[in-house]
Amino acid sequence: MKNFALLVFTCLAISSNIFAQEYTVDFPHPETHYAHVKVCFRNWKGGQMDIHLPVWAPGSYLVREFSKNVESYKAFNAAGELLSVTKTRKNIWTVNADKGDVNIEYDVYANELSVRTSFIDAEHAYLNGTSVFVFVNDYLSKKATVNISLPINWKTISVALDKDQNRENVFVADNYDALVDAPFEIGNHHVFSFTSCGVKHEVAMFGKAYYNEDQLKKDMAVITEQSLNVFGGPHPCKNYLFIIHNLNNGGGGLEHKNSTTLQTEKNGYTGDDYKSFLTLVAHEYFHLWNVKRMRPKALGPFDYDNENYTNLLFVSEGFTAYYEDLIVFRSGFYTRQEFLQKIANSFSYADNQLGAAIQPLNEASFDAWIKYYRPNENSNNSTVSYYSKGAAVAASLDMIIRTKTNGKKSLDDVMQVLYQTYFLGYNRGFTDAEFKDAVSQIVGQNMNNFFNKYVYDTQQIPFDTITQEIGLSLEDNFADEEKVYLGINMQSGKNTISSVERNSPAWLAGLNVGDEVIAINDYRFTGDLNESMSLVKVNDEVKIMVSRGGNIKSFIMRCTNNPYVNYFIELTEGLTENQKRILKGWLGEF
Ligand SMILES: [Zn+2]
Repeated sequence: MKNFALLVFTCLAISSNIFAQEYTVDFPHPETHYAHVKVCFRNWKGGQMDIHLPVWAPGSYLVREFSKNVESYKAFNAAGELLSVTKTRKNIWTVNADKGDVNIEYDVYANELSVRTSFIDAEHAYLNGTSVFVFVNDYLSKKATVNISLPINWKTISVALDKDQNRENVFVADNYDALVDAPFEIGNHHVFSFTSCGVKHEVAMFGKAYYNEDQLKKDMAVITEQSLNVFGGPHPCKNYLFIIHNLNNGGGGLEHKNSTTLQTEKNGYTGDDYKSFLTLVAHEYFHLWNVKRMRPKALGPFDYDNENYTNLLFVSEGFTAYYEDLIVFRSGFYTRQEFLQKIANSFSYADNQLGAAIQPLNEASFDAWIKYYRPNENSNNSTVSYYSKGAAVAASLDMIIRTKTNGKKSLDDVMQVLYQTYFLGYNRGFTDAEFKDAVSQIVGQNMNNFFNKYVYDTQQIPFDTITQEIGLSLEDNFADEEKVYLGINMQSGKNTISSVERNSPAWLAGLNVGDEVIAINDYRFTGDLNESMSLVKVNDEVKIMVSRGGNIKSFIMRCTNNPYVNYFIELTEGLTENQKRILKGWLGEF
């Protein structure tokens, strides 16, 4: 390796504006999906410097190994001399440098357009800090700048960071956490803005899409105001940025402290798709309080080198999943019946999901890194979603609180207590016990029994009693319906079994994932399981012939009735005046 002194850059030294860590991002050939990153760590104390790249992106609980996309790593001392770099961990590069400025540079390959990763092509760049910006522990709390060097035909940078007063396209972050919690959208996207909650909201729209801008401004403003109402003012952000990627297909979002990235389908701005989009807006916006500020203890400050374990993702994600629907309902985009159906769906999920009897909700959260984010063919049998069951717990608690306090309190009060006590008060995350105490405080009685049974154990939540007590009734669409059940699912378009449901007739008979179904009841299997089973009734015997690893095997099983529920919720007949009053506080006039 040669020491090309000409390639060495030096830190920008503007006397009025000296920052501890200065990043520069260049896109010499964006069509190749590469960024060239330079960092100057100023005034290094001297000695061994470990330079890390995070292994995960907060909000998405999977080790993604971002360092796999880093190349051509170089380090220089203040005199511009090349330093030798040793790789000492999968995500750590180590240099020995004398006292003074240390300059690092490297290339990042970015070709994954998801909300949690980075993407660069001829058209635009979307940068998520954790996959682009390295850090040194001694500098984590120090101010940082990012200088974006725009390709000649790119004009616009959207990011929720302050602009440097003296330099164009330079942005300032208070510390490394703030830097990597502010994704960049860079290119020629359309930007519009609206003011709500007393705060300017910018929307950076990447990709052509069929939306009505005026409508969006109006509707997104209502959602933001309803979100603020849950926690109470003032709004915690100076300003807020929505980055929206309009794609052919796909969807999802990731929360950040003063911004969010949403991905949606470019045709998804009408009808029910538009309502789904608004729930996505509500979900990510609600996170600016729930998880980005009021948060479980493990979720900030982060350990970027390792998994960060918490039992409480059912609060961070499940409660947010409940509130996304409640906020969209309060904003007038869902009818009361649509909102109640969302709750019914979360109750159906909690009762149907086979893994809900195996994995407590707290473990679903703790093991998100190895289970929820790494599903396999047995996941339905062994795991439960902290989103969907967490939403069912949130809806249950909201109903219990309203019933027990005679309509004086609600889950909103729990959110406010947590936000005010642990974020505004102590500026730290809360523990499991502190979360449970906050709920107990609002209900006015010790709720440990509820959490022990339904969160830290797998007992079924008594949804029917909880709904009845508030004046609603929980009904099952499938209650009187007889439907043949085997408990196998097929790979789409193939004759191969993709999953076998725990304790189902197929499970008990010994059918396996990967078995190729050859015949059912001695008829050649056509690939359509419903068609093959059309003449079979509940309690009939069924013979299934499969090929397993090239060997032909036959299994006999007795069909049972479909064990699943499909709930809906309606108002109980003959509500008392008191029940009507309590329900009105939650569901509005009726
Ligand atoms: Zn979320």
